[in-house]
Amino acid sequence: MGVHVFWDSRVPIGLSRPVTEELSGVLEMPVSRIDNGTFPLEGFDPMRQQCDAVKILTKLDIFRQRYPQLFKPENIDIGYYNKFNHLHEKVLLITPVDIFEPLADFVFGLAYPSLGVAVVSPARLTNEFYGRHADDDALVDRMVKEGAHEIGHLFGLEHCDNPGCIMYCPRNLDDLDRKRKYFCGRCRIQLNGQREGDLF
Ligand SMILES: [Zn+2]
Ligand SMILES: [Zn+2]
Repeated sequence: MGVHVFWDSRVPIGLSRPVTEELSGVLEMPVSRIDNGTFPLEGFDPMRQQCDAVKILTKLDIFRQRYPQLFKPENIDIGYYNKFNHLHEKVLLITPVDIFEPLADFVFGLAYPSLGVAVVSPARLTNEFYGRHADDDALVDRMVKEGAHEIGHLFGLEHCDNPGCIMYCPRNLDDLDRKRKYFCGRCRIQLNGQREGDLF
């Protein structure tokens, strides 16, 4: 079992290391980083000038199976991996495009727990999008919170009522900024329990 961040190289590459390392700290688990590739644009809607996150995730699942060498842990045989183990790998794609899901104007990120894949877009996480001065530290912070939230969903966690918890569902940037980079006690117990159940 592993968690992988697949960082599309069109997203500022200098952020990939701080985001991945902080994600690993918040999740309290190893997170590997793949940042030398691009993911094909999928589900682009020319009217909205956005991509459909559900279509991206469906494609990401196929992509993951087509390129097992990117995601396979070193100590696992490729035949075994292709047959069983890929189901236990969780992949978070960082995409440069603005994303939506069919019932919402936009989403910061989306997870598809039954496939083990998630996506986060920094498009609406930058200060510039809201006419404020650029701030890389704030952007890293938001990407870590949003990434940890979606990975939490991949481990079976649902939304939490605690506005400070990673699993709280933010409606806007202010909600996201108000959250802290931690899982509340209840969500942490559930995350650790799920993780142990997933190891083999
Ligand atoms: Zn959520
Ligand atoms: Zn919580």
